[in-house]
Amino acid sequence: MTTMATPIRNPEIRFKHLFINNEWVNAASGKTFHVLNPATGKKTVDVQEGDKADVDRAVAAAKKAIETGSVWRNMDASDRGRLLNRLADLIERDRLYLASLETLDCGKPFTDSYNTDMVLVMKCIRYYAGWTDKICGKTIPMDGEYFCYTKHEPVGVCGQILHWNFPLLMMAWKLGPALACGNVVVLKPAEQTPLTALYTASLIKEAGFPPGVVNVIPGYGPTAGAAISEHYDIDRIAFTGSTEVGQIVMQAAARTNLKRVTLELGGKSPNVIFADADVDRAVETCQNGLFLNMGQYCCAASRTYVHEEIYDVFIRKLVEKAKSRVVGDPFDVRTICGPQIDQEQFDKVIALIESGVQQGAKLECGGKRQGTVGYFVQPTVFSGVTEEMRIGREEICGPVMQVTKFRTMDDVVQRANRTNYGLAAGICTKDLDKVMTYSNHVRAGTIWVNSFNVFGAQCPFGGFKMSGIGRELGEYGLHEYSELKTVIIKTPTKF
Ligand code: NAD
Repeated sequence: MTTMATPIRNPEIRFKHLFINNEWVNAASGKTFHVLNPATGKKTVDVQEGDKADVDRAVAAAKKAIETGSVWRNMDASDRGRLLNRLADLIERDRLYLASLETLDCGKPFTDSYNTDMVLVMKCIRYYAGWTDKICGKTIPMDGEYFCYTKHEPVGVCGQILHWNFPLLMMAWKLGPALACGNVVVLKPAEQTPLTALYTASLIKEAGFPPGVVNVIPGYGPTAGAAISEHYDIDRIAFTGSTEVGQIVMQAAARTNLKRVTLELGGKSPNVIFADADVDRAVETCQNGLFLNMGQYCCAASRTYVHEEIYDVFIRKLVEKAKSRVVGDPFDVRTICGPQIDQEQFDKVIALIESGVQQGAKLECGGKRQGTVGYFVQPTVFSGVTEEMRIGREEICGPVMQVTKFRTMDDVVQRANRTNYGLAAGICTKDLDKVMTYSNHVRAGTIWVNSFNVFGAQCPFGGFKMSGIGRELGEYGLHEYSELKTVIIKTPTKF
């Protein structure tokens, strides 16, 4: 599905309200907030700002949509699949508009929005559409004169709090399994990037989902987000974002109604390059593993360990490649690096780069702001980084690669695991024994071999340690959205 398309530079923004019960409504407070274009730092539009009262309204609508006797509750599972497929078809119809809107909202290069994000969004929704009537329990040969079976039921009202780096894709990862299992949803997009979620809400209505099944409340974390994580009538919460906020969300869930929690949090992924690897391909893998989406994603391969035998040549090639990356206007189809999302993230990235220099890492290239407008940072490579330095330890969420030398498998496995995170890891080698040893001993939810950042709707994704709880995608992701019920029936006496 990789095609060239001409982006819509100023996509019309049609939806700026809260979406509750299939209606567009103002926030109860009447407040709005600015949505900024990260490529310019200027306001794109004002959007209604949801808060607790709005979350209450949305939860009430969602509860009604799933109550006994409701259309949604009584709908055949295959019809839920039909609605999800219809939604994917509408996203495909409006792919150019949605990709353009995503680029405007989060600064992602248009070629990525169009050729990667939108394609993964459609595939994810279609994948879960196919699951709706294949979610089966078991019959269990229990002791005694009983017949036992299990069935999967929807959890109920699902709160979903999203991050800004892959706005529509994260929405698809959460909506797909939730709706496939028959749940209802109250979703809060990140305050930086509400636009594609709101447009998609209009497609949800057009597809024919009953009122209240999906509700979208743009707003801030400590207000609208907290109202979702603390709500007594929300049965389950799925959160993507920072580890710190993930802890707040989990505490809120524990303090209130013990709602089920899944968390997709931060990372500091190691990517290990052995001397037998194809160097040019490994350089390419490292570049995609870190600089994709301006380094703004949880599993970014920010810690690159290179075997001492190829270290010097590897750094030279890595730096040449990083310098050749085209940074600039995300609507220009030649651009592969857009801006960071906002001033806060820009400042954080620059401060961490400065700390790297101060703590003695060697700045090989980049390290500065690009241009004077928007939040652009040059692709940056540090060498000689240790795990004790801030840049070797803290998540940067920016286009900053840390390269370091290693000698043995034992050494590199220990260093790869010297982190509280455990989201992903990579290895480049032709040696299958090395692959097996590394993938068995590194504590991370996904291990990429001679590749990085390869996602499929079929393949579960999630973190070990402080990178998260639970899994998204695949069948594992589906089961996070159902409750298991055991039914035991007394049978007639044996004869
Ligand atoms: P953040 O944690 O501040 O915000 C994420 C979401 O949480 C936003 O919608 C925000 O409004 C909301 N939020 C903020 N405070 C809240 C509160 N008190 N209660 C409820 N919700 C609240 O995210 P950030 O710091 O801007 O994002 C960076 C982090 O997200 C990085 O660590 C990155 O790795 C991580 N991330 C993880 C994944 C993954 O799948 N594991 C994916 C993308 C991003």
